[in-house]
Amino acid sequence: MDSHQISSNLAIVKQRISKACADAGRDPNEITLVAVSKTKPTSYIEYAMEHEQVHFGENRMQELDDKMTELAGKNIEWHMIGNLQTNKIKFIADRVHWVHSIEKLKYLKEFEKRAADANHHVKALIQVNISNEKQKGGCKPEALKDLLLASQSFKHVTVCGLMGMATFTDDESEVRSEFKLLKSLFDEHKQYSEGSVQLEHISMGMSNDMEIAIQEGATMLRIGSDIFGARN
Ligand SMILES: *Cc1c(COP(=O)(O)O)cnc(C)c1O
Repeated sequence: MDSHQISSNLAIVKQRISKACADAGRDPNEITLVAVSKTKPTSYIEYAMEHEQVHFGENRMQELDDKMTELAGKNIEWHMIGNLQTNKIKFIADRVHWVHSIEKLKYLKEFEKRAADANHHVKALIQVNISNEKQKGGCKPEALKDLLLASQSFKHVTVCGLMGMATFTDDESEVRSEFKLLKSLFDEHKQYSEGSVQLEHISMGMSNDMEIAIQEGATMLRIGSDIFGARN
């Protein structure tokens, strides 16, 4: 991948977003494109930055930590989108802007503590398991209400939405029904927006299912391979 290829991939992804928004009667400005740069070198991130890309996502805490250090001072909003480990949160909570993969209160408390130490602020999304696949992670839909109620008084973390991953399948109707579930959970739980809970975002949709996600109400897309190429 060179700068030219990444630029043309980004343009194609943005066209797909515009088209899906037009079809769904939505405003493309409602949608944040998170370019998922996991496993790719920081040069790829810099190429994408040359084409106005600001939001970048990583799924491993160590890799995110290294890339934030290497690209310190650049105009980047960093998103942690993968599995968390409590003992490593301190390495990223001082710099990361968004974390999509919160599945328990313990993680929010650790982000609150570590972000406070650094006088930093983190936007968090609660990951919900919408696919019934255990390895996908996320809290159970039934656990969401208590999690939100317990999150209303943070000072350095704002819980601003939900994240979900659909089953990896060619069955479009299954993917769609899982995205519909996340949207309906979002609508049902918006009423718990108070203090440091302010539900605004739905993070769903990857390279292979972004159009369905847009139709079903996504406000954040996490796109990796269609921008930066396949991963081995
Ligand atoms: C890798 C990853 C993505 C991006 O996947 P692509 O299929 O490459 O677009 C999105 N979300 C999460 C949580 C990921 O780990």
